[in-house]
Amino acid sequence: MTVRDDLPVMVIGAGPVGLAAAAHLYERGLPTVVLEAGDGPGAAVRQWGHVRLFSPWRYNIDTAARRLLEATGWVAPDPDILPTGAELVADYLRPLAELPQLRPALRYGARVVAISRLGLDRLRTAGREQAPFLVRLAEGEEMLARAVVDASGTWGTPNVLGASGLPARGEAAAGRYLEQALPDVLGADRDRFAGRHTLVVGAGHSAANTLLSLADLAAEEPGTEVTWAIRTASPARTYGGGDADALPARGALGSRLRAHVDAGRIRLLTGFSVHALTPAGDRVRVEVRRADGGAESVTVDRIVAATGFRPDHSIAAELRLDLDPVLGATRALAPLIDPNEHSCGTVPPHGVDELSHPEPGYHAVGMKSYGRAPTFLMATGYEQVRSVAAALAGDWTAARDVQLDLPETGVCNSNPDESVTGDNCCGPAPAAAPAGRGLATGISGGLLATPLGLVTLDVAGNGQAGGCCAG
Ligand SMILES: Cc1cc2nc3c(=O)[nH]c(=O)nc-3n(C[C@H](O)[C@H](O)[C@H](O)COP(=O)(O)OP(=O)(O)OC[C@H]3O[C@@H](n4cnc5c(N)ncnc54)[C@H](O)[C@@H]3O)c2cc1C
Repeated sequence: MTVRDDLPVMVIGAGPVGLAAAAHLYERGLPTVVLEAGDGPGAAVRQWGHVRLFSPWRYNIDTAARRLLEATGWVAPDPDILPTGAELVADYLRPLAELPQLRPALRYGARVVAISRLGLDRLRTAGREQAPFLVRLAEGEEMLARAVVDASGTWGTPNVLGASGLPARGEAAAGRYLEQALPDVLGADRDRFAGRHTLVVGAGHSAANTLLSLADLAAEEPGTEVTWAIRTASPARTYGGGDADALPARGALGSRLRAHVDAGRIRLLTGFSVHALTPAGDRVRVEVRRADGGAESVTVDRIVAATGFRPDHSIAAELRLDLDPVLGATRALAPLIDPNEHSCGTVPPHGVDELSHPEPGYHAVGMKSYGRAPTFLMATGYEQVRSVAAALAGDWTAARDVQLDLPETGVCNSNPDESVTGDNCCGPAPAAAPAGRGLATGISGGLLATPLGLVTLDVAGNGQAGGCCAG
């Protein structure tokens, strides 16, 4: 036994994947501590608790978690039902976190701000593999660990609105007009949207969800207007596979969205790359710069930024990470999940080998492991942590016997520019669309050509953009 074997495995995050890791580590007999920044399990999922998942229960429950729960008499929900985020927490994550085997390992209100090796900065090599990990919490407390399983997700680091990956001009100062992805439009946040004009920016699952809620709101609340902006020339990818999608709920989402756009209830702006935000009285003007140098603007009440998420690797800055320069996933995993090539359902099985860095014992898993790829599914994360836990226990045969049964969801975008920014969605390859001036399908008026070539569309509402399967 080395010094590290006396220490716990530190799991960061008590989301679906962090809790699954804890269940597998428990079954492997490895002492574990789960550090969760929020006040309970599934803190990020609760933020989008009003949203219905597109994968049914059969894909959402980890195998080790199921074994531990069923031993207590817990009965799994109907495998064919789609839970909301709130139901995922209430019916699965909370009971899991309350199990007597796991509860003592969980610490809430424990935000990790840095991970290093005890006594060794990133430069030092000698003795590195034997040195325990040092995990620092926000209040300054430091804990030692034999390994770190980082399941902290990406929910806390959404992508910016600016099309270049940098904040749009004025974005930082425009906070009063901006909404994060997935506001509860028909529930707690209704007043911010009713009777107003919302711009939703993004082409993923989050954007589609918000747009449909806004369309429902518009049917009930006079004066509610909805505009949807995407960077590409065609919304085909967001519309998804329709009846051909192996996750019917996602196919249906796209079909409903298409119907609203075709009927003009949602105005669609294509080729829309946000360049600048400028306050205009109580509203905000959103300026677009097109590739051909032209410019346009829309003026709205609110903007929902559903532009996807990116990982925050800063807590591991003192570790030796080998990250793919495009996705921010490990170099071994990146080609397997590249959204240029893979949809959620075509990602090959992978485990500890693909999730290892030059820093032995540190593994980012779950949503974070995918970096900027928007195609993560919980079932993938569950297999990741099964493999990592087996490896940490020294069972390399089980660790390398990776298996994954995912629903096929079509071929992802072949446009790298869309893929790396999380602005695409799984679905069949989009039909070729003509490159227009940038404003296209579904616009029902309000365009004004100026002598400078600007086109202004006055709208009142919010705007948001999001990722794909996960965003
Ligand atoms: C709207 C939406 C719908 C989705 N629908 C599906 C679906 O239908 N099917 C599917 O398979 N996947 C779906 N996903 C994708 C993905 O499976 C989920 O995002 C899932 O919650 C990811 O699990 P995770 O445990 O990796 O991360 P998260 O659920 O994000 O959990 C991370 C946890 O870490 C905590 N944390 C973060 N930073 C720190 C820190 N520094 N220190 C301590 N704790 C920290 C957070 O508070 C959080 O509790 C969806 C995602 C979204 C956003």
